Amino acid sequence: MGVAETKIYPINTGWLQNDLGTYVFWKGPAGEKIWQPCYCYYVDTGEHKILIDTGLPDQERATKYHHNCEKRGCLQVHEHLEQKLGVHPDEIDAIVFTHLHWDHVQNMKEFKNARYIAPRAEIEMAYNPLPLYYRTYESPAIGIEPAYQGCTFEMIDDETEVLPGITMFHTPGHSVGHMAVTVETSVGDIVVCGDAIFNGRNLEPNEDEKWRYWVPARFVSSVDGWRSVEELDKRADYVLPCHDPACGESDVYPYEGMKLRERRKHIPGLHFYFGDMPPGATRKAHGIK
Ligand SMILES: [Zn+2]
Repeated sequence: MGVAETKIYPINTGWLQNDLGTYVFWKGPAGEKIWQPCYCYYVDTGEHKILIDTGLPDQERATKYHHNCEKRGCLQVHEHLEQKLGVHPDEIDAIVFTHLHWDHVQNMKEFKNARYIAPRAEIEMAYNPLPLYYRTYESPAIGIEPAYQGCTFEMIDDETEVLPGITMFHTPGHSVGHMAVTVETSVGDIVVCGDAIFNGRNLEPNEDEKWRYWVPARFVSSVDGWRSVEELDKRADYVLPCHDPACGESDVYPYEGMKLRERRKHIPGLHFYFGDMPPGATRKAHGIK
């Protein structure tokens, strides 16, 4: 049991239409529409059966309140688990949420025996959203009942190994309390990164602009967002975002012949920001003692 046995299964819960420049790449091509999958992940450690996020609702609800949605044969998370993976929803003992945006939390009440584990700052924002984010967190203020209505969460304040081999760590920027999840596996640390990046390409450079990372464009804080991308880069031997079509290239991770990434790869002329700064420099720049 444990690390040697741990497997991660991607579950695509449907496709959403988004704008490439507004979501996926900072200053990417504005107005260009793309379809993105919406993955959540089932993790079997041999000892625990866990979900990381729970994905989309049905097509009608998603399209009515949010973005154009097409299921394209994808099931909702509990249906996929039972029909494709042979796991009954009652067998899930914990759900770890990277953040509580609407497309990561649906159907959570289907899992009657699960502990709900989420970052404290996300829970606080979800139950009392800044008005700008009423829709993002499906606030009752605009007549929607959010998926987590009436649920009790275990709140995570700081980096925590929430279950053996499963560690949440801070990656704010996309949302205020966002945390990514490291899953220790036989090949190394696979990081399920929620929306800290949308696409593996976000960890690669934009050479034209001399950016070490072509970070995503959907954020509450660009400074935190960049810092979080550097943090992912330091920790991950493999990254699984939630909206990257490439995550569906295997039904299970790790797999034979899987290509691991090089952590914190230096590229001449392109700088890490936080990594390159002397310790404390950014705190001083922001006037923090
Ligand atoms: Zn999100």
